[in-house]
Amino acid sequence: MSFNLEQDLEARYEAGLYRRRKTLDSPQGPEVIINGQHYLAFCSNDYLGLANHPEVIASFRRATDSYGLGGGASHLVVGHSRAHHQLEEELAAFTGRERALLFSNGYMANLGVISALLGKQDAVFQDRLNHASLLDAGQLSGARFQRYLHNDVDNLEARLQKTSARRKLIVTDGVFSMDGDVAPVQALSDLAAQHQAWLMVDDAHGFGFLGATGGGVAEAYGLSQKQLPVLVGTLGKAFGTSGAFVAGSDVLIETLIQFARTYIYTTSMPPAVASATRTSLLLLQEQHWRREHLQNLIQYFRQGCEQLGLQLMPSQTPIQPLLVGCEKRAVKMSQLLSERGIMVTAIRPPTVPKGSSRLRITFSAAHKLSHVDRLLDALKVVADSVEIERVTDTASGF
Ligand code: PMP
Repeated sequence: MSFNLEQDLEARYEAGLYRRRKTLDSPQGPEVIINGQHYLAFCSNDYLGLANHPEVIASFRRATDSYGLGGGASHLVVGHSRAHHQLEEELAAFTGRERALLFSNGYMANLGVISALLGKQDAVFQDRLNHASLLDAGQLSGARFQRYLHNDVDNLEARLQKTSARRKLIVTDGVFSMDGDVAPVQALSDLAAQHQAWLMVDDAHGFGFLGATGGGVAEAYGLSQKQLPVLVGTLGKAFGTSGAFVAGSDVLIETLIQFARTYIYTTSMPPAVASATRTSLLLLQEQHWRREHLQNLIQYFRQGCEQLGLQLMPSQTPIQPLLVGCEKRAVKMSQLLSERGIMVTAIRPPTVPKGSSRLRITFSAAHKLSHVDRLLDALKVVADSVEIERVTDTASGF
């Protein structure tokens, strides 16, 4: 019997959904080298430009002298170093939570948290555009699983009213990873309180950018631990390193240490990554200019697109998707941009709903305004050559 894998690959290719990796030969930054070619890149999640920051790198190097390289064991065996512990304490203080717990990455944090908190008697309510790791976690938990309409608090409320379950967990991205818009976290928190539910926010893309000191949606909307009991952040984006954390009450963190399988059964992140992250946490809080500069880049880009009649999605964050619609056209645009030395990724189903393929343009504090000018010039030429729908046309909307 054959598995017929070729057939699946062929079908994916025919649908314009085939994905290919790019191999990077340089550090992350506005300018990258891919297969020997130089590009101006607008596709990383290194929002604050810390992934290649000399102080962060120096902390990493120093920490390898103290701790070596590998974590060597899981946290509960002998892999929990002083560097991990200090970072957890600092992340707890930063988020205004009792405690924080490190995970090796965000995908595992989400799987671990939801399946530790919920079982068959419980119910989970997720925004339909939540990150794949949250959706997968909901399935894995065995809880009754519902997806509510994107950012639609009324639709969620109608579902909550009909549900009797031991525990009810509402789960949302803070900033949506493919759309760049922000969840109505205050309303979600109020609704959770009315229905004796808990709110969990994965703020992978909000930390570092939103809030006066980069504390993400929780800081921006002043949500306390009680109002937002489960707060997830990732370290591979604005922090510029790798890993993730969950912040919340002492009892939540103890529960995760005891029951979160993706915490228990995996090697701890390299301690030097934790040390480097302690430095990026300081820079992230202190260097306000990074957030301010990002804001300027975003406004400048949005104005430029408006002048060109290009249809950006309504986002005020560093994720600025240009809606294309058709899968193949999005890929074509990405290719044409790369021929002009600009790297922007086309995002297609299943990552986004069918017919809503887009160029996911992201900005970093390491970009300059002149980089945005180059992007706008290239977008103008490319949009003309593939004839994408302009705002002045009968807009299809999203
Ligand atoms: N949550 C969200 C919202 C994400 O966008 C991502 C990754 N892009 C993750 C979780 C997973 O984080 P990590 O890359 O650390 O696994």
